[in-house]
Amino acid sequence: IKWTEGRGWHDAQLVPYAPLSLDPANMTLHYAQTIFEGLKAYRQPDGGVATFRPRANAERFAASARRLAMPELPVETFIEACDVLVRQDRAWVPSEGEASLYLRPFMFATEVGLGVRPANEYLFVVIASPAGAYFSGGVQPVSVWLSEEYVRAAPGGTGAAKTGGNYAASLVAQAQAIEHGCDQVVWLDAIERRWIEEMGGMNLYFVYGDRIVTPELTGSLLPGITRDSLLRIAADLGYEVAEGRISVDDWRAHTQDGTLTEVFACGTAAVITPVGSVKSTRASWIVADGAPGAVTMRLREALLSIQTGHAPDPHTWMHPLGA
Ligand code: PMP
Repeated sequence: IKWTEGRGWHDAQLVPYAPLSLDPANMTLHYAQTIFEGLKAYRQPDGGVATFRPRANAERFAASARRLAMPELPVETFIEACDVLVRQDRAWVPSEGEASLYLRPFMFATEVGLGVRPANEYLFVVIASPAGAYFSGGVQPVSVWLSEEYVRAAPGGTGAAKTGGNYAASLVAQAQAIEHGCDQVVWLDAIERRWIEEMGGMNLYFVYGDRIVTPELTGSLLPGITRDSLLRIAADLGYEVAEGRISVDDWRAHTQDGTLTEVFACGTAAVITPVGSVKSTRASWIVADGAPGAVTMRLREALLSIQTGHAPDPHTWMHPLGA
């Protein structure tokens, strides 16, 4: 779907997957005015397909558009575009289980020009790709690297938006994580460099027995839809749930005194991933016994059961699209 200044949204099209041709002076290539989303369609027990919380993605997309000075795509148009693609590609939705059809809606500037200002033309596109179960040989805990040298996002920046620049800025720290033998980077706040924010592509949860805490939305971390869903699922299951501040020192001290029993990361791609060990330039430690914890696995099962249609959907998160 195209957007042009003075004309608004127009020319919605369903076309076969193909390369796009871009002018070398396309403004996106230079100034990175680009936003995206990620969501999944799951096969349901009756043979139909359903997407998980597309409205939440549409609303976050609109918020990202506002932050990047881009036109807002109406929420209903975003949902309809995803619906049309999933219906067209329904044969590509895997037959059952955790496997899914991953949808990637995105928008970028299409105007040609070298001046730095919001563009006056954009393109909104949705592509899809089948995604297998994230863990094939059982759920594996990840190891994380605390990035002390770089920050992902600062107050007043674009951290809460899903925009390409945030990911470009994070690659060097992700490479450092790998160099230090870790799977993923964990970001700290930009001011004090001690409060836990999130991982490269997932939000974090800290489990203290029956009490579950996730870093509060400070404006510099992404408001994950899985994070939001788990706040509600955990409360439904009777856990005491809170959004708060957790420092690196708390993480280490509460691991050592045994009050912090599990840590996990969550996001659309991996659903829920246990965190098994932590490393920084100053210290390294094992979270609990390094194995997936019982609360982590219970929440994972509860969320996946709703997504795959094997449990009731009390919050009407599933968006059914028929067979
Ligand atoms: N943080 C970042 C930086 C991410 O890229 C993602 C993935 N979208 C998440 C958190 C998790 O968000 P969600 O649960 O909406 O996938």
